[in-house]
Amino acid sequence: MTSNKSQPSSDDGSEAELRYQVERLLARASLVSQGLDSQLDKVLSELRQYLRGQERSPDRLRGFQERLDSELERLDDHVGRERRDAARVLGRLLDTAGRSSLAGAGDLKRLSRELGPRGLPREALLPWIESFADAVEQALPGNGTGGERSPGLLGRFFQRGASERSQSQASDLAPPDGELDLETADNLPPEDDDQSQRLRIARRVGELMGRVMHQVELPPDTHRRAALLKARLSDQQDWALLRQSLDETADLVIAVVSHSQREFQGFLQRLDERLSSLHVHVTDQTDAMAGRQSAAEAMEQTVQGELSELGHSLVQHSDLEGLRASVSRHIERIASTVQVYRVREQERDEQLADQMEAMREKLVAMETHCEQVREQLAQERARALTDILTQLPNRESWDERLRFEHERWQRYGHPVALAVLDIDNFKQVNDSFGHKAGDRVIQLVARALRERLRTTDFVARYGGEEFVVLLPETSLDQAIRVIDSLRQHVAEMPFHFQRRPVAVTFSAGVSWFREGSAPDRVFDEADKALYQAKSDGRNRVVGARGLTW
Ligand code: GH3
Ligand code: MG
Ligand code: MG
Repeated sequence: MTSNKSQPSSDDGSEAELRYQVERLLARASLVSQGLDSQLDKVLSELRQYLRGQERSPDRLRGFQERLDSELERLDDHVGRERRDAARVLGRLLDTAGRSSLAGAGDLKRLSRELGPRGLPREALLPWIESFADAVEQALPGNGTGGERSPGLLGRFFQRGASERSQSQASDLAPPDGELDLETADNLPPEDDDQSQRLRIARRVGELMGRVMHQVELPPDTHRRAALLKARLSDQQDWALLRQSLDETADLVIAVVSHSQREFQGFLQRLDERLSSLHVHVTDQTDAMAGRQSAAEAMEQTVQGELSELGHSLVQHSDLEGLRASVSRHIERIASTVQVYRVREQERDEQLADQMEAMREKLVAMETHCEQVREQLAQERARALTDILTQLPNRESWDERLRFEHERWQRYGHPVALAVLDIDNFKQVNDSFGHKAGDRVIQLVARALRERLRTTDFVARYGGEEFVVLLPETSLDQAIRVIDSLRQHVAEMPFHFQRRPVAVTFSAGVSWFREGSAPDRVFDEADKALYQAKSDGRNRVVGARGLTW
């Protein structure tokens, strides 16, 4: 604190010195109590101001003292009321805990004694609440029976940061050899907290949008932006920024889709233009041919005219000299007509050759472009028929193949079996370990199916955690054996999450093509057999033969 009051001179003696010290102490003490109560603050601030001045009057000082006394009395009442109110609320908590056996009777009695009717001083309040929380947690099922105590609901809430840290440390651990790790740095199990749920959902949406981006094939100039968005969607902790990234991703996908539509339209337009220019060339060629024909006809007429005139002059001319002159005139005319015709013909030939070359070049360009577009379309088609997560054929592809195998079966009558597989209790995997771990399970099961089935068999992801298999040249019994050995293999696969084993199994239903059974019906039968396998206890294969529905 600073004071405007000047220090007393040595003449004032020790009494004045003492008074000065007391006043300074008073001013400082008033600052210490500042902020407790606004009314008290006002009196203290006036007191400090008074002490800074030179004037001292016993009456003014007494006035201050009286005002302070009454403020302190008022504050005492207030604090007492606050403590009693807190005691009442905490007493209710104790009652509730007692009625619902949320804590042991002994603990509750002790806590009630500590609380007393007048409540607790401020500094004792927090330790009391902590003891109460301990007593409640101790009584919760699964606690207090020795071993390490779990942090409980409140504890979990307050220790979330710490637990996330330890989980991500666990995720750094390398999996033991041969184990199928379901954990990645960002697939921690879902949490109950609203905000993190929302972030998780948004990130999941982002991830799926990322897959859509992949499906539509991004033009090279958007790759950087897409990679940036993908990173932001998986790391972002801020809801507003995450939403913005989702919006941008949606914009990008829309832009890309309309871009490829425009590109295809552009291709069709260019093709159309090239076709019309070819049409012009062809018309030119036809005209040129017609011109050549009429030129030849004209020449023929001229030559014939000359020849017939020559015939006449042979009759008319009796003298040899006159005859010779006439013949040579006609022959010259015929020769010059033929010459003109030949020159024109040569010009026309050159013109035609140029046009033919231009036409050939155009055709080559068109062919190259068509080939590029054909390849692009083939790639897009392959992409449209492939499931991104598993790289297996997707449902669209399955529909095509099912029709194809059915037609073949109708023609050749070789046996064909059809199986529907569904991972058991998959929702639990998602709920316990998160969607990413669920995705990983789907991928690993898909890989096992692809690797263990024959190349002539056709396996596709039908949707979610369901797969479908077509087994040509396979009877129902053989197919049941094949699928059952797959089932056994998957059940033995060493999935784990945070070094703890995770059981993954699937159930399946199998049916087969027979006279009069449409593909959809065979599928339905296999699906119903799958349903039967589920109700029989899961992790099993059921054949459709003999099942009645
Ligand atoms: P059941 O043994 O009867 O088949 O039980 P289930 O839990 O496997 O079946 P249910 O149909 O109740 O749940 C399937 C779950 O699969 C629900 C859905 O959220 C989840 N799922 C579907 N597609 C995907 C996916 O692509 N990835 C992940 N992680 N989960 C998916
Ligand atoms: Mg299912
Ligand atoms: Mg399932």
